[in-house]
Amino acid sequence: MASSFIDKARITVRAGDGGNGVVSFHREKYVAAGGPDGGDGGKGGSVILQVDDNLSTLLDFRYKRKYSAPNGMDGQGARKSGKDGADLTIKVPRGTLVRDAETGEIIKDMSNGKPYVLCKGGRGGWGNSHFATPTRQIPRFSKGGTPGQSHDILLELKLLADVGLVGFPNVGKSTLLSVVSRAQPKIANYHFTTLSPNLGVVYVGEGRSFVLADIPGIIEGASEGAGLGHDFLRHIDRCRLLIHVVDVSGSEGRDPVEDFDAINAELIQYSADLEKRPQIVAANKIDVMEDPENLERLRKHVEKLGYPLFEISAAAHQGVDGLMNKVSEQLSTLPPIVVYEPEYVPRPPVIDYSQPLDIQRTDDGIWVVDGPWLQRLMSNVNLNDYESRMYFDRTLRDSGLYQRLEEMGIHDGDTVSLYDYEFEYQQ
Ligand code: GDP
Ligand code: MG
Repeated sequence: MASSFIDKARITVRAGDGGNGVVSFHREKYVAAGGPDGGDGGKGGSVILQVDDNLSTLLDFRYKRKYSAPNGMDGQGARKSGKDGADLTIKVPRGTLVRDAETGEIIKDMSNGKPYVLCKGGRGGWGNSHFATPTRQIPRFSKGGTPGQSHDILLELKLLADVGLVGFPNVGKSTLLSVVSRAQPKIANYHFTTLSPNLGVVYVGEGRSFVLADIPGIIEGASEGAGLGHDFLRHIDRCRLLIHVVDVSGSEGRDPVEDFDAINAELIQYSADLEKRPQIVAANKIDVMEDPENLERLRKHVEKLGYPLFEISAAAHQGVDGLMNKVSEQLSTLPPIVVYEPEYVPRPPVIDYSQPLDIQRTDDGIWVVDGPWLQRLMSNVNLNDYESRMYFDRTLRDSGLYQRLEEMGIHDGDTVSLYDYEFEYQQ
């Protein structure tokens, strides 16, 4: 069924929030007041994407659309840190493009085996034991964790194959794939057989190999006015070379030259890029060819256009090795498979400065700053990175925080404490 092949999905992913730090003081019998021993909150789990070669469609994402990693646990007394939330790994087929759902920009092309952290878990808040210093013995405050990142994304599968098979239904594409690789595509003497892509590895000796894809039919459904299946063409976007299979047997009353031109017209209509993609023509079913005239007309036609032509019978395994050798030889002269560069640049969160920050001065002179937008900002800023820290500092300045601190009497060298981050104030 057509519905079993899903190559686009929209999902929401959410990393876990960081756990809260706690305020706690050590207590023992006969000891009046112990030191601060509130533990830190645990980190929230991150959401990680990982390629899984056992997957070939995005079907799973049709049934489950929300993915969230667990939150970190709150800290406890006795300096016990809260447990970190476990990372959540989402498996996707190789060649999945991850896009921002709002803008469509590419976030990541999942085409290699490296895991990709899509949403980072929130940081755990510090417990009061973390704030104890020689001059600050009794910190009565702790910090909340920061929220985990979340993102609405589109997944789009663009197969990774060196070579794509194109041609009308029933011309023998699946048969060809099955005889040159161990892939077992459905083969049947009726149209509409290939509804999900099949990939096979073709070995041509001396350790040379390439990946061949049988793509769901281009023209399938066209005669019914169901559209020309352009959607499926995205799966040959990345192919470095196309094998254009044409039935020259005349057994179905088809005209090979017309078929050849019709498919190419489809490719051009889909993208100008595909028009320039190198092609090798496979004139198939020569074992049952009724009239060699058809073959000769096709040969003249394609050779005039500069495409090499191979006579083959996929079913009878004739001429197939020669074709595969030619494919391999030509591939060695072509650039590697395209990997798309990320386009998406994370936008800084929109900050509503009208929500004032809460500023408290502790007994031992620390300025503790709190507030929803600050919390959100901090979960999106990597404070280990210089540029990000500069941006963070600018944002605080723009928000009027420093001015307010001045008004409240802050001195150079005072400590300002923001969640799990502290700095010395310098005017
Ligand atoms: P696809 O729709 O292009 O994938 O075509 P299939 O590979 O499913 O083949 C369609 C029909 O053509 C099947 O009945 C095949 O057995 C038959 N076929 C494929 N290649 C050949 C061939 O070289 N010779 C003959 N006689 N039949 C073939
Ligand atoms: Mg097929």
